[in-house]
Amino acid sequence: MPTAQTDLRRVRQNVADVRARVGPGVGIWATIKADAYSLGAAAVALAVRDAVEGFCVFALEEARAIDLWKLTGREAIAMGPPSTLDPEPYLAARVRPAVSTVEQARALRTARPVLCADTGMQRFACPPERVDEVLQAGGIDEAFTHATRLEHVRMLEALVGGKVARRHAAATALLGEPAAHLDAVRPGLALYRGALRVAAPLLEARDSRGPIGYTGWTSPTGRHGVIRAGYSDGLRPGPALVNGRRQQITEVGMQTAYVTLAPQDRPGDTVVLLGDGLTEADVAYAWNATPHQVLVTLGKFRA
Ligand SMILES: *Cc1c(COP(=O)(O)O)cnc(C)c1O
Repeated sequence: MPTAQTDLRRVRQNVADVRARVGPGVGIWATIKADAYSLGAAAVALAVRDAVEGFCVFALEEARAIDLWKLTGREAIAMGPPSTLDPEPYLAARVRPAVSTVEQARALRTARPVLCADTGMQRFACPPERVDEVLQAGGIDEAFTHATRLEHVRMLEALVGGKVARRHAAATALLGEPAAHLDAVRPGLALYRGALRVAAPLLEARDSRGPIGYTGWTSPTGRHGVIRAGYSDGLRPGPALVNGRRQQITEVGMQTAYVTLAPQDRPGDTVVLLGDGLTEADVAYAWNATPHQVLVTLGKFRA
């Protein structure tokens, strides 16, 4: 089976790169939802706690599961819809709930809710015409939006400008836009790029004879091998590195997959599925997926 490892030094370096980009005055709230995109939320949080202002999770339960406040001494924001309207568990975990309705804001007022404003995503966020009511109902001093374009950021500014002390919008996609940094950024992917390495030993390596596998594919190198990972593990056809050479995962079966090989590749040699210069973006392109999807899929091979 493949094994996956998280390079926490790389994650720390990535945080430092984000800091260099946004400057000292902008908060970095590290997004560690979905087990830090399956790189391991507890380990990541511990590794970066001194370099960030706080953390973002999707749901309160994710912070509780790793005792985030005890682990890091940093607050978190639960960006998804509230999982309860009882403020107590939020207060105990030092997690601020995102709210989008008057009912949520009122019920969770003592947990210092954060307004999630809708600037286009049209899901668990407050429509523009209700922003003022929700701000009032929750005594809210912080607001954010899911933003993929600068126009979303501008809309947030227009909606809450002068009404809250802190506003944030940018995830990884907008880190390159200084106008999107506002008071804080919430990077996820930018912290994890290059930090996951996934590799599997070659089970077999052989000279090809005629059409191969279920689909009858032909190896352009005249050789092929097999690894023990398949579509039941989420693997898909795409690039791989074998002994430093770029090869292809050509056909993926239930629990095994074929890979093209060079003449000198032998059983037991390492097939790198991600890392060593093979990027999430390279694999995502082949998978017709996002780098986020590649990480959460291949990260599942972590021991
Ligand atoms: C997931 C998420 C982020 C982080 O997104 P990346 O593209 O991984 O940087 C930031 N903000 C919100 C609201 C999110 O849901």
